Amino acid sequence: MKANKSIVMAGLLSFGLSGQQDMIAAETEDEKASKPNFIVIFADDLGYGDLGIFGHPTINTPNLDRMAFEGQKWTNFYVAAPVCTPSRAGLLTGRLPIRSGMCSDKRRVLFPDSNGGLPQSEITIARALKENGYQTAAIGKWHLGHKSPFLPTDHGFDSYFGIPYSNDMDRVPGTGTGNYITSQIKLAEEENFHAYNVPILRNDKIIERPADQRTITKRYTEEAVAKIKSMKDGPFFIYLAHNLPHIPLFRSEEFKDVSLAGFYGDVIEEIDWSVGQILKTLEEEGLDENTLVVFTSDNGPWHIFETHGGTAGLLRGAKGGTFEGGMREPTIFWWPGKLKQGVVMDMATTMDLFPTFCNLSGTKLPDDRIYDGYDISPLLLGTGKSPRDVVFYYRGQQVYAIRKGDYKAHFITQNEYGSQTAHPITNPPLEITNTPTVHETPLLYNVNIDPSEKFNIAEEHPEVIAEIRKVLEEHLAGIEEVENQLEK
Ligand code: MG
Repeated sequence: MKANKSIVMAGLLSFGLSGQQDMIAAETEDEKASKPNFIVIFADDLGYGDLGIFGHPTINTPNLDRMAFEGQKWTNFYVAAPVCTPSRAGLLTGRLPIRSGMCSDKRRVLFPDSNGGLPQSEITIARALKENGYQTAAIGKWHLGHKSPFLPTDHGFDSYFGIPYSNDMDRVPGTGTGNYITSQIKLAEEENFHAYNVPILRNDKIIERPADQRTITKRYTEEAVAKIKSMKDGPFFIYLAHNLPHIPLFRSEEFKDVSLAGFYGDVIEEIDWSVGQILKTLEEEGLDENTLVVFTSDNGPWHIFETHGGTAGLLRGAKGGTFEGGMREPTIFWWPGKLKQGVVMDMATTMDLFPTFCNLSGTKLPDDRIYDGYDISPLLLGTGKSPRDVVFYYRGQQVYAIRKGDYKAHFITQNEYGSQTAHPITNPPLEITNTPTVHETPLLYNVNIDPSEKFNIAEEHPEVIAEIRKVLEEHLAGIEEVENQLEK
């Protein structure tokens, strides 16, 4: 920032400004420097156990590992929902998706035939920061409405480049093997490339269709690097949401067969390379000490896709479900010289990013609505504990489970998407079905002692269940009905 400042000052002096005006210009530059840049890197369907630093034995992620060693590795970090659209709405608005109408019991996410999207009445991180002088860019998967007025450029982003929804949508009739699962994991990449007619948008215009997904991670990275360079006078906010490793998997030539973990490993290792390019660019441009970078994923791994889906490691469950594997994500914060380095085991969620970014940048958090996020900057800076003690696990429009402190109560259980078996042994044995099971006595786990949710301790702790029930009742009393955007 110092180099930039001297360039700006030299420019102003060449116009013969008076000393007083110089001071005003300098103050403005200092003010700019006090506003950190923010970059959120959001993977799609990456599991808790899919990174080297989070314990994967054969996926090599040196850049993410380095990011964690230099920054903070978070082991109790959650998303707002176990599936794409509501999870993204939660991150960008700082509010549970139930408040914006961005979750549904009938349709899990938005589809190409959907007419809804994130309402204009919602304020995104981008819009709030933009009002405080930030430049903003969205790159990658959006999935909050692909028609105006729901696009990124309608929601506070100065620019957008990416596939506006999931990479397995717009399936071309007649392609594939006739089976949804095997089509995506058995076909060659060249065949799959033609089977999904998804577009790439530049702002609000389609510039490519079908998107050549074989180079999508590489092109998102190039766009992010270019945006860092073009916005380096700061401050800026970049939201980089990769379409991968959501199925169907793709990788560029350079990453074919590089990973011991096969195709899925190749895809993750390319995303890791992408992270490395971003950190390197920040360092080269002298922006690293003024940029907070966050890496996480929108939901857990999609287990039914066999080796093309990831792993939640020791966590139980997967995408779509409300056991830990569906909603606890491998999360890393990086901000050299500012963050207190180490492992953070406090609870936080993607909804906390909005109030945290507001606090760190001196941006006013809107006071006309309920926020479900908390300012976690004391944890980042090492000055305090997490204000968060509760996490809600929604599936669609229902609260299935609540975590309060060490304990998590499941009021309703249901299998993750498509999977009927393969659950760890539980005590007592528990059958998880594809339809919701409402538990008269909730299942109770101590998720710090028992992160795999194997040992139901409900009978031993009726007082904990009573306390969590009270949290549920108070929460539900504060939820107002809004128009559902996924069913339009
Ligand atoms: Mg996802």
